[in-house]
Order: sequence, then structure tokens, then C-alpha cells
Amino acid sequence: MTKTAVILAGGLGSRFGQRTECMPKGFIEVGGVPIVEQSIKKLIAAGVSKIIIGTGHCNEYYDKLSQKYPIITTIKNDNYANTSSMGTLAVCAPLIEGSFFLLESDLIYDGAGLFVLQNDVHNDVILASGTTNSGDEVYLGVNGGGVLQKVSKDKSIVGNSAGELTGISKISTECLVRMLDIYKKGVASGSPDLGIKADYEAVLAAVSVGGLPVFVRVISSYSWCEVDNEAMLSRAVAAVYPIISEKESMQAVRREVLLNPGPSTTRDSVKWAQVVADICPREQEFGDTMQQVVDDLTSFVAPVGEYTTVIFGGSGTAADEAMISSCVPPNKRLLVVNNGSYGARLAKIARVYNIEMDEYKSSTYEPLDIADLEKTIVAGNYSALAIVYHETTTGLLNPLDKICPMAKSHGLITIVDSVSAYGGMEMNLPALCIDFAAATSNKHIGGMAGLGFVVCKVQELQKQKTWSMRNYYLNLFDQYEYFRATKQTRFTPPVQVIYALQQAILETKVETIAGRFARFTKCWQILLQGLADCSLQMLVAPEYQSHFITAIKVPTTHDTTTGNKYDFALFHDIARSKGFTIYPGKLGNIDTFRIANMGDIQPAEMQSFVQIMKDYMRTIGLNVH
Ligand code: PLP
Ligand code: MG
Ligand code: MG
Repeated sequence: MTKTAVILAGGLGSRFGQRTECMPKGFIEVGGVPIVEQSIKKLIAAGVSKIIIGTGHCNEYYDKLSQKYPIITTIKNDNYANTSSMGTLAVCAPLIEGSFFLLESDLIYDGAGLFVLQNDVHNDVILASGTTNSGDEVYLGVNGGGVLQKVSKDKSIVGNSAGELTGISKISTECLVRMLDIYKKGVASGSPDLGIKADYEAVLAAVSVGGLPVFVRVISSYSWCEVDNEAMLSRAVAAVYPIISEKESMQAVRREVLLNPGPSTTRDSVKWAQVVADICPREQEFGDTMQQVVDDLTSFVAPVGEYTTVIFGGSGTAADEAMISSCVPPNKRLLVVNNGSYGARLAKIARVYNIEMDEYKSSTYEPLDIADLEKTIVAGNYSALAIVYHETTTGLLNPLDKICPMAKSHGLITIVDSVSAYGGMEMNLPALCIDFAAATSNKHIGGMAGLGFVVCKVQELQKQKTWSMRNYYLNLFDQYEYFRATKQTRFTPPVQVIYALQQAILETKVETIAGRFARFTKCWQILLQGLADCSLQMLVAPEYQSHFITAIKVPTTHDTTTGNKYDFALFHDIARSKGFTIYPGKLGNIDTFRIANMGDIQPAEMQSFVQIMKDYMRTIGLNVH
């Protein structure tokens, strides 16, 4: 997979005159967004995790953009005024690793073009379109095999023209090396086409003629344009951009906002990331993908090396079960904190595996008494503590920053179900004194359901090497050891889920976990205002809530005229018909419904849901503001 892109953005844009005197062409807006930023979003959606921008004229614009998108690196071509696109590519070259997409900065294009190049069997491919009549066409001459031979604005000299250059290509390392070599020689010999003023496409043609074939992939109806001058910009706004928007909208998946506590709403880019070529998961290429995923999952919460991540095909409960059944030393005792359904589940797993265990029970909606928990730990003969970070049952966040260091001070192994906390809030496992933390692909991290994983402190994990196995498929040490040696999982991994997770990780890096927590908090505040407007009560006081789940006590009013009273099924159906899925919750004898802030929820969507909730609550006699 191509995961790097290079954008050539050194040019003066002089054909625009005044408009680009103090601004690079890429920052011209179409549809309210700078065209280069639209390109960046498309590249990210296509799985590109590193974008190198070769700058020159007004480079500070791009430097600023790189602060907004942490995956962008800028590098300036200091000689931009005397060179052309090849000069800028040469400046970018030292930063490029592996195959890359090469794009010009002034392009508006259908993102499907990147999918086409990604899936093209050839390593070096240049994307061509049919006739655009743009007024600045560059024609691509090919031989009978579709291999690039000549590039020119003069159609009469290119021979057999396959189509027009779009400015979007996929290039291999070998091709880049040859391009740089040809350019170097061209500069030395003062060549007019391949020297200091060379365009990259001319050099690409020289590589292709010189023996490394560059294939021209023609999509005759491809929608794209460049904006070199005012006339092109007018055409872009009036004719090209609307068509691209329409074509892209044809691939939009119907939006369902899941306000249930996971699986959560995923982005289309994550859904589409599963649509990839089939691969045997024992191939090196897939092993490299898994290694990257494993390292990325670790790096969000702990230093890679000191910690590692062990993955299993399965849900969050599989990760919980792997931890509980693997991490308690043989014949040693476990203490499980149970202050909600997921704590109860950890205890149940321990029971099934006949692990010696006690439950420490605490209120499901009030903070637990840490001093009392410590007394229990001191009084018992425990080797490990298991606890849920965020109790998804109620939205209660357990203060692990105090609990786990306390447990560690008594020598316990700390085992944490962080299924509904991981990726939603910043966590630092070493600082929190957490040895093992379980999570899943489909909650805050934003991937598809199907992968459970445990972030493990390597030193603690290695102790399990000599322990007798209580489990098989879910054995943490065996899975770790086999992966470490082979970059393979012992058994078939959920291949497509891993590709989706890779995309979700990329988008998490772009948003940042702090940014994600801020977005969830914003949604949560909108919800809280809506609840206050309806005089609805929450189960947990706001200061103890995670911001990821809010449990709301069901109203007991009824409408005096109609007699209507609260009916979850009806409320659910109304919300669902409008694209929102809500979830019931019963805690002992307390009846609640639960609203989650997980996955790709946006504040405007929470606002829409609040309106639906208010409309419904009015029908059952609540006094709604
Ligand atoms: N633990 C917690 C805290 C959860 O919130 C969940 C799911 O909501 C799970 C475990 C179980 O995850 P799964 O349903 O993926 O098995
Ligand atoms: Mg042009
Ligand atoms: Mg141009």
C-alpha cells in the first residue's frame, strides 16, 4: 500500500497575477476550503499517513497547515524561483520512503483517482483523463503497451496520446532514484527539458523511455482540473467542483449516529479502508501492517518497547478474558472491583477459569472508597487487581490514577478493562501503574468491531512464560511470543478489520486523543444542557462522569390530556427513524436510558438528537424549555 504523498507546492503561481502574489495557489478556496486542504483530506481518507509538501513561494502558509495536520512535513525549495516541479521534488526526495503518490498543489480531483492508483498493479503509474479543453493541456504519448513515451503541451509531437496529464501519479523508490539521476545529469549538462527548469513529468517520461516503464492509466471520464489562472478557477467552480462533489456523494454511506455504548459510529473512510486486495495474513506485507498497528496502539498510551500490544480476533470481552485468564499467576488470588456490569463480567470470567478470586463491590453510581479498597487489599493475600476504567453501565469513571499506584505499592499486578476509555481520553499506562489494559477496535479508536487487544507491560508479560496455561486461543504470552518471532498471529486474524483499524488509527493521530476528548466533551455538554432543559436527572453526578456515557433516569410524568407516559421502545423508534440509535439501561431497580459520546459523533449531531429528545419528552408531559 502506498502511504506517503508528496505535494509539489513551490511554484509562484504567476499566471494568477495579484491573487497569488502573497499566497500560494493551493490556498485558493473552492467550496469554502483551500484546494490543497481538500487534497490533504482525500489523501488521508485514502490511507496516506505521511504527507511531504515541497514549498517555496509563501512557504509559511504550508508551515502553518502542517501544525493543523501533524502528518504533514514541509520542506522548502530555496531555489524555487529558478527551478520547476522537478527541482522541488528533488528537495523532497530525502524525506521519501517507499512508494508515494505525487501530486501538484493546484489540483481539484475526484478522490476515486487515488483508489484507482492504489489498486493499479503497476508500481509506476500516471493518471490520465480524457479531453478537458482546459486550455493548458499536457498530453501523454504512449507506446502500444500504454507505457509513457513523451510528454508535451503540443499534441502533434507526442505521437499516440493516451490522454491528458492530471498531475496525480504513483511512483516507486526505484523510479524516484532514476528521476533524480536523470535530473542531476540534466542540470550538469544544461539540458533545456531535463535540467534546472525540468518539469517532473518530462523526467518521468525519460525514465520510462530509459527502461523502467511508467504506465499511463486512463480514466476518460475522470473529473479533475488544475487552477493556474482565473479562467481555470472559474471553470473549476462552475463545472468541475460540483461534479466531483456529486460523484463523491454517490459513495457516501447512509449516516447512522450510534448513541449506544459501542460499537460506535464509524467514518466512511474507515468503512472503505476494508475494501482492499485479498491477502494471506502470513505474507510479510501484512505482518508489517500488523506490526505498525500494534506499535501505534501501544504508542497512544505507553512507550513502545516498555509496553507492547497483543491482538486477538474477538470483541472487547475476548481481550478481557485473555487478560484475566492469562495474567493472574498460578495459584494466586485476584481481587476484582465490581461497581457495574463490566466489573461483574471480569469476576464472572475469573470464576469460569476457577481463579481464586474475591469481589470488591461498590456503588454503581458513586465513587468508590479508595481507603476502604486499600484496607481490603492489605487484609487479603492478593497478587492481582482487576478493575474497569470507565464503567460503561453508568458512565462512572474510576480514579485509576489513585487506585492503580496504590495497588502497585502493595505489589499487585494491575489488570484494567479500558475498553470504553482507550482512545477517548489521554492515558499514560506507566504513570498510571497499569500493567495490562484491554480495549477493542470499535469504540473510541473508531474502527470496526472484531479485534480485541491488550496493551501489556513487557516485563510483566514475560513473567508468564513459565506459567502453565489456563487457556489456549486467548493465551496472552503465546500470542505475544509468536507475533514477536513471526509478525503473525497464531490463528487467522480479522484481516479487513485490521485495515479499517489502521485507517482509524491514522485519523486518531490527525485528530489527536486530546482533540477527541474535547469533541466528546462538547457533545456531552450539549446533552447536559438538553437534559437540564427537560428537567431530566442523571444517575451519576457530572464530576464523576467520563463524558463518554450518560445514564439518564427515565421520567415518571405523563401527559394529562393523552395519558402518554415514557415508553423506551417508542422513544427509540422515533430517534432511530431520524438516524439516531439509543440504548436502555436498567441498574437494579433504577430504570435509565443511556446516551454515548463515542466514535464519530459531531456536536451538531448531538444538537439534533437533543431536539428529538425534547420533542419526545413534551409528548409525555415534561415541561421542556
Ligand atoms: N468492557 C467494557 C467497559 C465495555 O464497555 C464493553 C462493551 O461495551 C466490554 C467490556 C465488552 O466489549 P464487547 O462487547 O466488545 O465484548
Ligand atoms: Mg498547468
Ligand atoms: Mg498547474
